[in-house]
Amino acid sequence: MRELLILGCGHSESLTLFNTNAAIRENGRLFLIDCGWTIKAALHAQGYGFEHVDGIFITHVHGDHVFGLERIGYEARFGLGRRVPLYLPESLIGELWDQTLKGSMGRNSEGEQSLEDYFDVRPVGGDRLEAPQLSAPLFKTSHTPGKPSFGLVVDDHVVFTSDTRPVPDVLAGLDFDIGFHDVTFQTGNPVHASLDELVAVYPAAMRRKLYLMSYEDGYAEHEERVNQEFAGFARQGMAIAL
Ligand SMILES: [Zn+2]
Repeated sequence: MRELLILGCGHSESLTLFNTNAAIRENGRLFLIDCGWTIKAALHAQGYGFEHVDGIFITHVHGDHVFGLERIGYEARFGLGRRVPLYLPESLIGELWDQTLKGSMGRNSEGEQSLEDYFDVRPVGGDRLEAPQLSAPLFKTSHTPGKPSFGLVVDDHVVFTSDTRPVPDVLAGLDFDIGFHDVTFQTGNPVHASLDELVAVYPAAMRRKLYLMSYEDGYAEHEERVNQEFAGFARQGMAIAL
């Protein structure tokens, strides 16, 4: 059984939903797609711990997608005695270590440290992730201006956008039967896709294939509309057979 497991589906501001992170699950082992600050609790909620994680792919460098790397980096290295393979698009490596994790992880009891001291770093060049657990084409998304961010197509039929503004031209060029797409209930948000925008720019046939994720706590009031216009909301613990 091979599945895409939704570990969390919340907006970065959410109090009640875990960060929008997912995993490929096969034979009780996990390959993470993003690793935000709620990852330890989100894994625990599904009956897992860091010992079940065999690899991680990062879509972009925001806290709700990468801050959990500090936890798993320390705990895997010092508690489990191993470095987890970390698949990073080359454009993210400097942002992730020099500008994000180094301040916290750059020095420990053993002295000066690098990203490679905590993780088995596997740079991802080009537009395809090649990991033993997941071979997937990547596509550029439209999230924070000037900041690299990626979505991917899992097993040739499931699109996972991670955080993005609407990207109708990109999705139109992809062959998929299920998608997981960013949404926000705010209007005028410069880096996420509002519900109104998604309804306006994506054709109905495409919308009905999309589960919406990365949403705020007040989702219940939008549930009827989302169920009518889209496949529905992604839910924590939801698993899609691949
Ligand atoms: Zn983001």
